[in-house]
Amino acid sequence: MTATIIDGRAVAAALRAEVAVRAAAFTARHGRPPGLATVLAGDDPASHVYVRSKRKQAVAAGLADIHRSLPADVPEAELLAEVERLNGDEAVDGILVQLPLPPQVDASRVLALIDPAKDVDGLTAVSAGRLASGQPGLSPCTPSGCMKLLGHAAVPVAGARAVVIGRSNLVGRPVAQLLLLADATVTIAHSRTRDLAGLCAEADILIAAVGRPGLVRSAWVKAGAAVIDVGINRLPDGRLTGDVAFAEVAERAGWITPVPGGVGPMTIACLLENTVIAAEARART
Ligand code: NAD
Repeated sequence: MTATIIDGRAVAAALRAEVAVRAAAFTARHGRPPGLATVLAGDDPASHVYVRSKRKQAVAAGLADIHRSLPADVPEAELLAEVERLNGDEAVDGILVQLPLPPQVDASRVLALIDPAKDVDGLTAVSAGRLASGQPGLSPCTPSGCMKLLGHAAVPVAGARAVVIGRSNLVGRPVAQLLLLADATVTIAHSRTRDLAGLCAEADILIAAVGRPGLVRSAWVKAGAAVIDVGINRLPDGRLTGDVAFAEVAERAGWITPVPGGVGPMTIACLLENTVIAAEARART
């Protein structure tokens, strides 16, 4: 069997176009565009690249780009005060604090202060609690992106056995919650899991969110399974690769996402969608 390759770039482009239509309708109705605030503290080069890309795509989708850049030595109190200001700013519908934060700042305190109605990254404990208890709320972007790719490919999720490798708050746990909400039977595997290969081989849906290049081999994959590769790993020669040994797994899986061009592009598209969802929800209250 040769897997269908799920084209994340195309799915993300379609989602961005949908967001642009919703953003334009919001602007026409409310006299202002949905606003995304990005907060960047310090000079981590990767964070600068991510934030630049988020801002650029936000503007392209018709969102207002509100940006706060703070020095690497910013005191925690100043960052907290900035989040408070953005919480109170009517033009701001979504607040994204780019992680990691400088060492003198306690990221959990900063995240805890974000108004859950503006938590477009879905990383606050309130958002995680809502997700875990099946209440409406904003879901983290990369996990939402995984679910949209499964939906786009029409992979049957209800009743399927899903294995998620990785238990981070950013990806593993929330994607497991979303799969559960979609009626999959979910197992979360991690670095202490016994017989990971055997467990994965039972999965109809396998999500790898580990950060180990080529960890998932074809012998780990059930024939015809959907394999979603969240991993982004840089090889010594500079190329990016996922957690899945793509060439061999593509021979066995039913669906597979490539790296790059799979889950990656979905993350920012889902951030933009969350901002429009937050704007629409705030306008209703
Ligand atoms: P993390 O380091 O916080 O978590 C990794 C998880 O993998 C941990 O829960 C750990 O228990 C598990 N793990 C580690 N080694 C393992 C092993 N040998 N076997 C089984 N489980 C093991 O990472 P994260 O933030 O969840 O990110 C995971 C990967 O996804 C990284 O490569 C990251 O770059 C990528 N990522 C991609 C996107 C995207 O937009 N596509 C977004 C976020 C993260």
